[in-house]
This record gives sequence, C-alpha cells and structure tokens, in this order.
Amino acid sequence: MPTPNDGPAIAPDQPPLTALPGVGAKVAEKLAARGIESLQDLWLHLPRQYEDRTAITPIGALVPGMAAQVEGRVEAVERGFRYRPMLRVAIGDDSQATLVLRFFHFRSQQVNQFRVGARVRCYGTPRPGHHGLEIVHPSYRVLDEHADEALGERLDPVYPAIEGIGPASLRRMITAALERLPDEVALELLPAELRRQLHLPSLREALLTVHRPPPDTDLNALLAGTHPAQRRLAIEELLAHHLSLRRQRLAQQAHAAPVLKKGALAKRLQAALPFKLTGAQRRVFEQIRRDLALSRPMLRLVQGDVGSGKTVVAALAAMLAVESGKQAALMAPTELLAEQHLSNLRGWLEPLGVRVAWLAGKVTGKARTRVLEEVASGEAQVVVGTHALMQQGVGFHDLALAIVDEQHRFGVHQRLALRDKGAGGSIGEHAVVPHQLVMTATPIPRTLAMAAYADLDVSAIDELPPGRTPVQTVALSAGRRPELVERIRSACAEGRQAYWVCTLIDDSDEVVAQAAQTTYEELSAQLEGLRVGLVHGRMKATEKQAAMRAFKDGETDLLVATTVIEVGVDVPNASLMIIENAERLGLAQLHQLRGRVGRGRAASNCVLLYQPPLSKLARQRLETMRQTQDGFVIAEKDLELRGPGELLGTRQTGLAAFRVADLIRDADLLPRVHEIGERLMETSPELAARIVARWVGGAARYAAA
Ligand code: ADP
Ligand code: MG
Repeated sequence: MPTPNDGPAIAPDQPPLTALPGVGAKVAEKLAARGIESLQDLWLHLPRQYEDRTAITPIGALVPGMAAQVEGRVEAVERGFRYRPMLRVAIGDDSQATLVLRFFHFRSQQVNQFRVGARVRCYGTPRPGHHGLEIVHPSYRVLDEHADEALGERLDPVYPAIEGIGPASLRRMITAALERLPDEVALELLPAELRRQLHLPSLREALLTVHRPPPDTDLNALLAGTHPAQRRLAIEELLAHHLSLRRQRLAQQAHAAPVLKKGALAKRLQAALPFKLTGAQRRVFEQIRRDLALSRPMLRLVQGDVGSGKTVVAALAAMLAVESGKQAALMAPTELLAEQHLSNLRGWLEPLGVRVAWLAGKVTGKARTRVLEEVASGEAQVVVGTHALMQQGVGFHDLALAIVDEQHRFGVHQRLALRDKGAGGSIGEHAVVPHQLVMTATPIPRTLAMAAYADLDVSAIDELPPGRTPVQTVALSAGRRPELVERIRSACAEGRQAYWVCTLIDDSDEVVAQAAQTTYEELSAQLEGLRVGLVHGRMKATEKQAAMRAFKDGETDLLVATTVIEVGVDVPNASLMIIENAERLGLAQLHQLRGRVGRGRAASNCVLLYQPPLSKLARQRLETMRQTQDGFVIAEKDLELRGPGELLGTRQTGLAAFRVADLIRDADLLPRVHEIGERLMETSPELAARIVARWVGGAARYAAA
C-alpha cells in the first residue's frame, strides 16, 4: 500500500540501533517487535512510572499503598511451604516498627543473604498483611555493613517492559540513546514563538526531564501525566496525528471521483417512503448531495443517535450513484445488521426497479458465484453486506459510493479497503476513487471528534423522527428481579415485546452464552404461555438470525440476548428492555442497548438491574442514563467520568494509540492543536511533514493507508 506523504521516519543522520553498546542483532529484533527501530523510538519509549529512591522513609511512617524506600535490619526470617514456597523477612528500623518482605519466588542463595542483623534497603508498595505492613516482592539490596551507601539523586524511571529485554538493560540502552540526543536547536521542530506562547520547554529539555526527572520534580504531576514536560510531548504528538490525518485528507482529495449529479431517482425514493424525512435528515442528505456532485471524493461521517434514521439517508445517497449508472455498496459490521439493511433497502428500492444484491460470509457456492458475477457486471446496482464485501475476488463494475455503517466497529483500514475496491484494488496518483460515507451511532464529544476525524467532514443527524416517546429509565437492585417477571407478562399481554439483556464482567463468549442460556430457561419456566427466544454469540449464525427474525416478526414475545443485539437492530414493537448487571457496562454501551427500545409509538421502559453495592462511578453512570437520552450529552458525561488513564482506544475512535498523549487527560490541548496544525499546514508544510514523520512515522500506516 503506498504511503503517499511522510518523509523518512528515521532521520538520515541517525545511526542504526545496533550502534548502541549492548544492542546486537538479536536485541534489535526484539526492539523492532515493539516498533522500536531508531534512536528516536528509544527516546520516545517513555517511563510509565517513577520510583523515588532519593530518600528513606522510616518504617513507622509508611502509608499503605504509597511506594517508598526503606532501610532496616533483618529481625527474623521464615521460610514456609504451606501452599507454595514462601519466604518472609521481617525488618525493623529506628522507628520501632516492623515491615515484612514477602517472596513467593526465590533462590536459596537469596535466603542466605537475609541473615538476622543484615542491613537491607528496599523499595516497594506496602500493603496491610497479617502482621502489620508488608511488601510483596520488593526490589532490594543487602548493604555492606559499614559502607556509607549513597541515595539516588534522581527519580528512577520504570519503562514499559519489552519482551526478552531485562529492565536494567533497557534502562542502559535508553540512557545510551539519550546521550546521543542532538542539541536543542537540531532537535526542535516546534516554532520558538509557539513555545513561548504556550510556556513549553524545548523537546530536548522535555525528554530529559521525563526520562531523568531531577529530584525536585513534581512527582505527582509526572505520575498524573500533567507535568509541563509531558504536556510538551503530548502537544507535539497530538499535532503530529492531526497533521497526519489532514495530510491524508489532502492526498485523498488529490484523487478524482465520479461526479454524481442526477437526483430524480432519489426524489422518487423520497416520495415513495412511508414517512417524511426529518429536517436533520434533509439537511444531511443535502450536504451529501453537494459533495457527490464534485469531482473529488467525499469523505463524510454522519453521526446520528440510535434511531435517528441514518439508513434512509444512505439509501438516498446510493440512488445518486445508481441513477448515474454506477454502483453503491453498504457494509455493516454484523450479519444481523447487514440483513436488516438488506431488507430495508430491498423494501424501498426494488419497487423503483433498483437491483439490490447481498454478499455475506454465509453466501457460498453457486449463490456466491452468481452474486460476484452480478457485482462484477454492474447488474447489482446496490450491494449490501458484511466484511465479505472486502474480500479478495470481489470486484465491482463501477463502485462510486462506499458506505460503511457503525464505522467505529471497523478500523480505518477496512474502510479504506472498501474504497480501494472502487479503484480495482490499487490507487495510483490520479486514480478515480469512490466517495465514502461513514455512519456512526456513537457520538463522540466535539473535542475528540476533532482528533479522531480530522480527515473527515462531519454531519450530525441531531433530531429523532417524530412520534417517539422518550424511554422511561429506572435503576433497580437485582433483588427486585421477581417484580420484573410480572412486568414482562403485562407488557406482552398488551401485545408488546421485551428484551432481557444478559451481561457479565467476564466477556468470554462462552460464559456469557451460558448465563444467557440459564436465564432463558428460568424465564421460560416463569413466564409460562409467553414465547421466549434466545440469541447469543455462540449460536450458529443461522440460529441467531432465525431467533432474531422470529422476534422481529412478532413470533416471540421476549428475547433473551447477550449484547450481540447492541448494534442497529430495529424492532419498533419492543417497548421494554431489562439490562442485567448494568453497573458493569460503560455509558456508550448502555446507550446503544437502550436505543433498541423507544422506536415505536408505545411508551417504552428500560430497567437497569444492578448488583449492590454500587461504586460511585457506577452510580453516576446509572444516574446519567436515568436523566438523559441524548447521545451527545451521554458522550460528554462518559468522557468526564472515565477520567485520565482510560484511553479511548482504537476500538472507539479508530484512532491509533498514542505514546504520550491521552485524549481525555489532554482534551484541553485539542483545540490548540487544531489551530496550530492548520497554521503549520499553510505556512510550513515542510515542518509539518517532519513532525508527522517523527511521531507517526511507520506507525501511521493506519492513518496514511
Ligand atoms: P439508525 O440511525 O439508528 O441507523 P435507522 O435508520 O435504523 O436508525 O432508523 C430507525 C427507524 O426509523 C427505522 O424503522 C426507519 O425506517 C425509521 N425512520 C427513519 N426515518 C424516519 C422518519 N423521518 N420518520 C419516521 N420514521 C423514520
Ligand atoms: Mg443504523
């Protein structure tokens, strides 16, 4: 795959890693396995922790949970084998307190070192044990009886482990790499004026501070990741990612795309729909229509809450391609969802004479051959499917619009793989590529959208179709489960349907499937006379679909399910949802699940069952769910509640993982980054390219793919 922009990730004047002492071919290979291929990668392999060995804490002053260095004399040694080998060493100091060092793995040589009376200096995190505080597996040293042992002068960095390389050698390597840091001017890429404005240290200073913090460094800030040195690194990294996405976008837009101007078919579809488009749907479709009329590829993300009606907007867009004699493809992350799209699209489009084809993993043999022929000949005007659409052997006649639903479930690679189908799989410089429309029901806060989607235009369908009644949400402790059985009975007696969602903290499919099976049996017994269905991830695709379809067609009253129903499934007659262990789910997932009800006219209810006691965080999440149904509000709250450290990973945003930056902790930097990025793109594209190469480099394959 061509990487159109980025210059060399390794500056030409950088020696290979094997030039460092102690780094042979073998070690270099292990480093490379972790993406460390240059000196620069080592500079950017930042500590994940620090240990403060600059002082000694009296044993009596230790605080449980707070790491510290202590020094004392061995008072007693006990070697035991009760359940497994164990070594316990009690040490005491002038503070008259005793600390137990406990080892589960040790050699006899180690045991011999701990003679009663020996001086030991150790470091670790004390926790309450059977006999006062203890440290399990401290790092320690037995000191010479009389020598005056110096204390550390700096905080000790602890690096993320690299398989096959011990922590001490890794530290040595990084130290050696840091000795080769260029001087301040040679290393710096951020304009001086900008650094002054933002009070940021130079890159050299920032790296040295982070790797070798002087003793007076604010350790709390360092550990929280908010030290100016870290902010400096974060801002450059965020900037690099932003620039990479923007440059990617420019590269994309250098391609040509088919001009799709004919709108009569879309008008006919609109007129034939059983409902009127909402204002938001009309506005977003209008944006898409304008994009498609241009000869450069559209790259548009449509964000819209569950049930906001994204599918029909996609169908309208597809009509623009079809009327121009070209094809559109719609890809969904699950077979169930793709099937639902298929049936919606067939219902809407076949009366207009548009041929809709179906391609999923389970389409095999003759049927598959036939579909592939239709896709290749152009007879199939709209193709709906799953990942199967991107497989080898699938060749389109003339793909003009690639639509990806629930895009957060796909990586950026997959989205681009579908696009590449339109250009015969390889993209030359002046290739004609399809327009891309991606849809998501996972709203992400504005600040994050800037970082995640800098390569896309974003539209929001921020209005629900009329006639929806808000879902009444309550949180109940699991003890009240019996009442719910009655509630289900009465809802179903009125001809409505209900979901019972089983979740567990253990997300192994098997365990969850088992729980769902058990719940299914219990509820079937308790709700005699009602028709109960079951869907879980361990069922065969055909069984799953049969159960789902039976529910959709009203042949079952209650559907016991795991979170496989999470995405996109639409059963307007379902008006009651019960979610077990709701306290264990994140806000985004709860919101997605709840979106399955409240799709029809009947007033809907959602019951969040929880296992008391609730943590403060879980309580806040459930409270948020009770208070609002607005996906954007929930997303903001989610961001706030997650707090630092809990990265929004690739899964949620499609973003690559960062080395230093944390989208949540550093969210306040994003508008700045955006602004600086735009300025640099304009005034110093050369510099922008170097910043991208430094931070994103080869790892940007995802962003640059
Ligand atoms: P989502 O945005 O979650 O993908 P869907 O496209 O599945 O939502 O739409 C949810 C339901 O709303 C579908 O049954 C769809 O036919 C219906 N719908 C879409 N637009 C409208 C509208 N303007 N008025 C009434 N119903 C609509
Ligand atoms: Mg949808």
